[in-house]
Amino acid sequence: MSHQIFFAPLALLPSGWQKNVFIEVSQGQIIRVAENQPPPADARILNGPVLPTMTNLHSHAFQRIMAGLSEVSLNPNDNFWSWRDTMYKLVAKLTPDDVETIATELYIDMLKAGYGQVVEFNYLHHSPDGQRYSDPAEMNRRLLQASDTTGLGITLAPVLYSYGGFGEQPCNQAQQRFYHATDEYLRLHELLAPQVKQASLTQKLALCFHSIRAVNAEQINQILAHQQHNIPVHIHIAEQQKEVSDCLAHYGQRPVEWLFNNTNVTPDWCLIHATHLNKEEICKLARSQAVAGLCPTTEANLGDGIFPAQSFIAEQGRIGIGSDSHVGLSVAEELRLLEYSQRLQAQQRNRLYTTEQPAVGDYLFNACLQGGAQAAGIQSGLCPGSRADFMTLNNELAEIAGAQPSQLLNRWIFACRENPVKDVYIAGQQRIFSGQHPHQQTSRESYIALQHRLKL
Ligand SMILES: [Zn+2]
Repeated sequence: MSHQIFFAPLALLPSGWQKNVFIEVSQGQIIRVAENQPPPADARILNGPVLPTMTNLHSHAFQRIMAGLSEVSLNPNDNFWSWRDTMYKLVAKLTPDDVETIATELYIDMLKAGYGQVVEFNYLHHSPDGQRYSDPAEMNRRLLQASDTTGLGITLAPVLYSYGGFGEQPCNQAQQRFYHATDEYLRLHELLAPQVKQASLTQKLALCFHSIRAVNAEQINQILAHQQHNIPVHIHIAEQQKEVSDCLAHYGQRPVEWLFNNTNVTPDWCLIHATHLNKEEICKLARSQAVAGLCPTTEANLGDGIFPAQSFIAEQGRIGIGSDSHVGLSVAEELRLLEYSQRLQAQQRNRLYTTEQPAVGDYLFNACLQGGAQAAGIQSGLCPGSRADFMTLNNELAEIAGAQPSQLLNRWIFACRENPVKDVYIAGQQRIFSGQHPHQQTSRESYIALQHRLKL
């Protein structure tokens, strides 16, 4: 397993689709890629078009178990905040075992969807009454365990959550499970670092601030100053119009404006949602080269609003996709909805592309591949230096088999009636076999039993 040779009749390289591609892998990393090669005698042949796997840059794993259950009108003004009340009721019930069960099932489904790495934005830390577990890193370790069990790469982003709202309001009862003071948060990172370092090929750590409602500027800067190495920094921002108006009322500044005025936003940063931006904020965010972490199915589900993607891309802004609350678990669905929301708003077609990449599917897949990897602190793409993460598409599907290479991504994203992801390899190790994961049976049984027990 330490040294492997793969051969792909057709593969998506950083230079575009290439034929007869040789991929040499050592210790789970790609060390050489060459096109127009004869198949080496000892190579493993990858049938069907081969693509790098996508990063899912935003996940709250536990929310998967309530996906689809809040689509019932509770009052005529249902919005994000009434959904959050439902989510908090779930939060009150979950044990570390439950979280691991949900994350294991979720990560299997992510692999099947063609994701190779997840950024797990975890704010569920303590027992329901706020008591620390005997190991304060217990909940976070369960998420690392789900990554180990399934093989999905993880960038674990333990969340700092100190306040219940703007103006340093104390956390309410439901939020006690999330709370850390700054020094306790730094200690949590110290506890997790050795475990993550041991699995350095597939596991990373990130810094994470829940939102500018839940932390203050002093905390952000203190924690950033404490870091000796560059690691990803994630934050929820400007998801909701109410968050913008509350921020204006409290600080006299809009959320993204406030963030740029109060800390140094570098390419290490990933601003999750960033839905509500004015022209100036679009330019600032694009120029910073930080990633806008977009979660199109969740943002649509919660009625957040539409990210100004066309203007942001015109300023060379960087984007990536996440499945957030996991109402969707499909790379194609996230990318398609991102494009379609722009079309519906503009009443025009083909909105997200560049002159170099006029095919919308090509632009979106490649941009989110790069932006997602940046946000997760990894390198992606089929080239030396990347982890050997790739997937094959099912050549038996008419939409795939009948497509020219230049049409493949558009066919997958806009027209496939079923998931075409067939085999998935992470760090050179096969994890999905013809759409199946070796642990799926046991995982599914536990997951279904948990749903019954929670009486959702
Ligand atoms: Zn989120």
